[in-house]
Amino acid sequence: MAAAEGVIFQVQRWSIHDGEGIRSTVFLKGCPLRCAWCANPESWSPKIEHGFGQLVTVEELMRRLRRDEVFYRESGGGVTFSGGEPLMQADFLLAAVQACAASGYHTAIETSLMADWEKAWPILGLIDEIFIDLKHMDHGLHCELTGVSNKKILENAQKLLAVHNNVTVRVPLVEGLNDDKADLEALAAFLENSPGFTAVEFMPYHNLGVAKYARLNLPEPPIHSSPSAEAIDGLKRFLRRRGLNVL
Ligand code: SF4
Repeated sequence: MAAAEGVIFQVQRWSIHDGEGIRSTVFLKGCPLRCAWCANPESWSPKIEHGFGQLVTVEELMRRLRRDEVFYRESGGGVTFSGGEPLMQADFLLAAVQACAASGYHTAIETSLMADWEKAWPILGLIDEIFIDLKHMDHGLHCELTGVSNKKILENAQKLLAVHNNVTVRVPLVEGLNDDKADLEALAAFLENSPGFTAVEFMPYHNLGVAKYARLNLPEPPIHSSPSAEAIDGLKRFLRRRGLNVL
């Protein structure tokens, strides 16, 4: 595969939840995590398989993104890169971000930060708005719930928050797994005095991706629940009392 080609599994047009304004969200395939609540298991493999995925050049991708250019400009939106873990296809992502910047598009990324900093920063440094997922602050529970250590993720997050000025921290909320105040207290301590931190955003669990597991010949995942709206409000108040901006 040439450097300026990548494997994507969706371009979602008119997205309004992945950054400012109306956006196109480009979902790249490949993810090193295996979160217990993952709704996009089709993103895990970097390959095209089971009918998921498409090889595109940066030029082809830009042709598709250009269709909605007027919406980006009128709404203050742009292009968001997501996955999977988009930093897994670093060469393609870098070329795509550079092409968006050359077209004047605002860019955003959703990332777990599970990547080598030396490869990640040249890309992240070009992106206007960054959403990082911090799934659990406890090392053992992070390993249990996502299949990987959070050591590199937290090291990268610390570096990023020191040098980028627009970083939102997204926390998936799954009842009984990562919704306790001890974890949020550790998150608050981690984020205080971080110059680049803008806000925490909770992402309540949903089970809309469960049907995809069968299509991928994967065992059916355990069904979880989202904390109740009242419980989420309580967690928001808790973080606000700790001085954090919460969306
Ligand atoms: S990081 Fe995202 S795509 Fe990867 S396993 Fe976790 S929830 Fe799924």
